[in-house]
This record gives sequence, structure tokens and C-alpha cells, in this order.
Amino acid sequence: MILKWIALIALGVLIYWFLKRARQIQQKDNNDLAAIEDMVCCAHCGVHLPKSESIASQDQYFCNAHHLQQYRDVMKDLDE
Ligand SMILES: [Zn+2]
Repeated sequence: MILKWIALIALGVLIYWFLKRARQIQQKDNNDLAAIEDMVCCAHCGVHLPKSESIASQDQYFCNAHHLQQYRDVMKDLDE
């Protein structure tokens, strides 16, 4: 009789552990997806960087303000 109870408790603990572990793996997958961010390419030097760290101007992305200015200067020269 006592063996039956021990087996039932062990089974319950095993199911609890299994469900907890499955939930942790699912949460980890969700976190990995959230960490993936759009990458953009600097229009001046071509370096790839996360969109949130880039400077956007007229549908173009730049790695820093200096490259944005250089790109504008080049475009201005081409227009003249
Ligand atoms: Zn750049």
C-alpha cells in the first residue's frame, strides 16, 4: 500500500518537473526571438548595425552622424 503512494507521489513530482522544464524552454525561445533585431547597412561605409543604433535619414541608415554628413556632402556634390 505504501509503495503505491510513493509511486504516485514520484509520478506527480516527475510530471510537475517535466511541465516546469517545458515552460522554461518555451520562455527561452520567446526571449531569443525578442532579441533578434532588424539590421541595417550604413549608406556611407556599408557597415551593418542594429536599426535602433543607426541614424535614419530619407530612407537611408548611417552608423554615425559623421557618415550622415559625409553622405549628404557627396550627394550635394553630385547634384551640382
Ligand atoms: Zn558608416
